[in-house]
Amino acid sequence: MTEKLYINDSYIYEFKGIIEEIIEKEGKYHVVLDKTGFYPEGGGQPSDIGSMNGIKVSYVYIENGTIYHILDEKPESKEVVGKIDIPNRVDLTIHHSGQHLFSSIAFKLYNAATVGFHLTKTKMTVDLDIQLADRQVREIEAKANQLISSNKKVKLYYPQANEIDKYPLRKVPKVKENIRLVEIEETDFTPCGGTHVKGLLELKLFKIKSYENYKGGMRFEILIGDRAIKDYNNKSALMKSLTSEFSFNQLQLLEGLIKLRENNKELSDQIKELKEEQLKTLAKTLPQKALEKSGRKYIIENIPEASGKDLKQIAQTITENEGFLLILASESDGKINLLVQKSKELDASCKEIYKSISDKHGLRGGGNDNACQGGGKLNVSAEELISLIRDEIV
Ligand SMILES: [Zn+2]
Repeated sequence: MTEKLYINDSYIYEFKGIIEEIIEKEGKYHVVLDKTGFYPEGGGQPSDIGSMNGIKVSYVYIENGTIYHILDEKPESKEVVGKIDIPNRVDLTIHHSGQHLFSSIAFKLYNAATVGFHLTKTKMTVDLDIQLADRQVREIEAKANQLISSNKKVKLYYPQANEIDKYPLRKVPKVKENIRLVEIEETDFTPCGGTHVKGLLELKLFKIKSYENYKGGMRFEILIGDRAIKDYNNKSALMKSLTSEFSFNQLQLLEGLIKLRENNKELSDQIKELKEEQLKTLAKTLPQKALEKSGRKYIIENIPEASGKDLKQIAQTITENEGFLLILASESDGKINLLVQKSKELDASCKEIYKSISDKHGLRGGGNDNACQGGGKLNVSAEELISLIRDEIV
């Protein structure tokens, strides 16, 4: 059993220890000490990192009461000085204490039980077993910040298993021995083996960043201290960019963006109407360009910026009249669209015509004797393709 220095005092950032065992595994050294200030991963809290005699400690774990420190190199002396990475420990500690604070307020105000807790270097989530309204979430947040401002003290107790009934516990301990209780003054009593602050003022700021329904309850992402301040700074920078980019002040921004979206929709509708008009006009004027040959009226044209769908619409209108054979091309989204379509009674096979063009130029697509359509990426422009086809056919 390794003596756990962090269990009584989570402010020990440097300590002396004696190496009891070193196990080499896959080029790393798993070092066991007589005592340690390093917190091993557990209870939802990630492990500490730091150094031992100047050698990097990258991960710490516990197995059957023995704590293993993973080092990149083998320490040379038996006596070691362990140094905990302080900013990392403080960040994890204030978040763990913040989770207790959140869970206790949710329990007191709404009888909500905490059913999940995940903490990493970038994110903390806490899961409750019930769903809360926006107003209730804001109420928890306000209460948490109020308790932080009052700097409620956090105290540790080490009762025997038969003494725990004396404490108003939020949940029962999972272990029968080495029980440790964490109290937030006038707020919470709960069993826990993680690292905690001494007073809530160390948390600085409590912010519920987001929340969503999760497994019948709710999952909350919570930021404490510098993570909350960093998030506020990021959001301020984003707001500054948005207000300067769109020339609205902060209060007008939402209204302004909604207006822009409405204007955009109006303009899109107008463009759609104009395009439909343009297609109708094209369908009327194109037949005047028809080239008559062997009783067929050929329309072989490039329609700039028309989509495949637009070509179809033009062809549909023109081939309602007798005698037409259309070969239309366009360029849209970086590829060439090609359509071959004829008036129903006309004796010709669009399939054969399309196949001869597509085989020659490497286009995809197909259809039947009345209409074929397809496209692809070509080395020639739609204008050049049409000119080549025109030379071949008429
Ligand atoms: Zn805890």
